[in-house]
Amino acid sequence: MFVNPSKFIQYFFPSLVWRKENSENNVWLTFDDGPTPEVTPYILQVLKHEKIKATFFLVGEQIEKFPNLVNDILSDGHLIANHSYSHKNGWLTSKEKYLKDIESCQELMPQNKLFRPPHGKITTVQISLLKEKYKIILWDVLSWDFSKKTTPKRVKQNVLKNTKNGSIIVFHNNQKSFRNLIVLTETIQELKKQGFRFSTTW
Ligand SMILES: [Zn+2]
Repeated sequence: MFVNPSKFIQYFFPSLVWRKENSENNVWLTFDDGPTPEVTPYILQVLKHEKIKATFFLVGEQIEKFPNLVNDILSDGHLIANHSYSHKNGWLTSKEKYLKDIESCQELMPQNKLFRPPHGKITTVQISLLKEKYKIILWDVLSWDFSKKTTPKRVKQNVLKNTKNGSIIVFHNNQKSFRNLIVLTETIQELKKQGFRFSTTW
């Protein structure tokens, strides 16, 4: 997984977006996976309370199971984007299967232009096949909210320590991460205090 992507890695994958250039004091808050009934309503409630918008990288399988949650995300003014249909690991999946899986998700959101590879794992061949149709979005700030070893406090610190202008921040919209999302509100509030604004314009 490209956890803390170094300049070295970024140099070799210029078609991937790790962080937004020339973004003044904007940051991009993103949520991977889901929609998930136990988690998505909570995230939406926090975002509504904080009056900010985010980008939700959704999984096709989950969209089909919980279409009402997708409607809730959209009606709150957030952006939805492609995180594949069945969350395949690009390193372990043939290019044909990988593209088909992404296309199956895309059929559920035909207007979408963004793709984020599950687990951040994608091959150079897959990138070259996808980059014309999609902006491929990675991240520069991983909250680590999914880690069993972390604590909510450390999740918050990870984000606050690493966020700068143009940062793309990842939280998760799944059950594994839910216990750590109790710091979502305070993390957002602290970022606001530091002068950051939240964008969904890619
Ligand atoms: Zn994912």
